[in-house]
Amino acid sequence: MSRRIVICGGGAIGVAIAWFLSRRGAVPIVVERHAVAGAASGKSGGFLAFDWCRGTALDRLARRSFELHAELAEELGNPWGYRRLETYAGYAAENEGDSGPGQRPWLSDSVSLSGQLGSPQTTALVEPYGFTTGLMRAAETHGAELRHGTVADLLHDKSGAARGVVLEDGETVEGDGVVIAMGPWSILATRWLPLPAVYGYKGHSLIFRTDDAIPGEALFLEYQEASGEVLTPELFPRADGTTWVCAVSSTSPLPVDPASVMGDEGAHARLEAMCRTISPALAAAPITARQACFRPVTDDGLPLIGRVPGVGGAYVATGHSVWGMLNAPATGEAMAELILDGAARRVDLRHFDPGRLKAFDPARLMSS
Ligand SMILES: Cc1cc2nc3c(=O)[nH]c(=O)nc-3n(C[C@H](O)[C@H](O)[C@H](O)COP(=O)(O)OP(=O)(O)OC[C@H]3O[C@@H](n4cnc5c(N)ncnc54)[C@H](O)[C@@H]3O)c2cc1C
Repeated sequence: MSRRIVICGGGAIGVAIAWFLSRRGAVPIVVERHAVAGAASGKSGGFLAFDWCRGTALDRLARRSFELHAELAEELGNPWGYRRLETYAGYAAENEGDSGPGQRPWLSDSVSLSGQLGSPQTTALVEPYGFTTGLMRAAETHGAELRHGTVADLLHDKSGAARGVVLEDGETVEGDGVVIAMGPWSILATRWLPLPAVYGYKGHSLIFRTDDAIPGEALFLEYQEASGEVLTPELFPRADGTTWVCAVSSTSPLPVDPASVMGDEGAHARLEAMCRTISPALAAAPITARQACFRPVTDDGLPLIGRVPGVGGAYVATGHSVWGMLNAPATGEAMAELILDGAARRVDLRHFDPGRLKAFDPARLMSS
């Protein structure tokens, strides 16, 4: 009989696990509260880098994942605009420049490029909503199931092992194992499992319809506002003729319902003002989306990928912070190996062992 694995959360991480499990003949059931790619996995930058995690515990995972992104785009017909691109660093200030031509036709003279950070061999981009929903559809063609529902508790067998989930409406979804992949909402699973804390860190972004006004060059900037405050915007021109720009982060609280995430007051206006200063092409382009989303962060900055200590059949994959889109495929591959073979072969998951951090006390959740 095929193994049935219940995956809580339809973000890039849950969906990538579903894809790799389904490819190996297991039956993943993704339970999603709001919408597949409805949170950060549909709104993030989708920037990928081969070797930007060198010297850290993430290096092997990131390199493997960069390779897998290229393979997945090739194998599945690239419905998510996977593209390789040049990547540059630069700086700008609101009070500098007279909006004349800059170092690129699409940049104003307030921007100085300071160096190249990546080449088409080492940096790439996906459109995250297309990637996450496309991978879910591909998993479904291999037998994965998608269920709409809010996971509210865990089902256990007599030995205490996880054997499925209970939804908010009382329905149950049974399986041979359960994976928590609810991004920053994984902290809610500390009510049912001994898991470390996961926090949400908010970011704002805009999408412009730029067509061919901006070439395939990603840009990481330091931008000083007239007030003296420094923002670190990122600009990613996508294969679909849009350009995604982010800046303005905040620690505002994570709403329990992923559908109610909204931008902080004034954040998008600030971002728009910055875009007009740095680029005449952006100043002239219509804005097609104003977005906000939360990335999942752990206490030591590394993801939680592995078995939940002390509870058979329970797994977690979250806390990927700024590299969740990059690291989704290698996380999915490693989790499928761990669940089906007992150990991951391609990457060493020891660094990401959930047991390395103290379990969060859910009483703190109720009181906050
Ligand atoms: C502004 C910004 C820019 C970023 N840019 C990049 C980038 O360029 N490159 C990169 O690699 N990474 C980037 N990231 C990081 C990346 O987006 C995240 O790490 C990644 O999306 C996390 O994926 P996830 O599947 O863990 O979580 P999420 O995408 O948050 O998905 C979790 C899912 O769980 C669901 N859920 C929640 N509660 C329940 C419940 N009770 N029952 C069922 N489902 C539930 C939610 O609805 C959601 O769909 C960026 C993040 C932000 C915020």
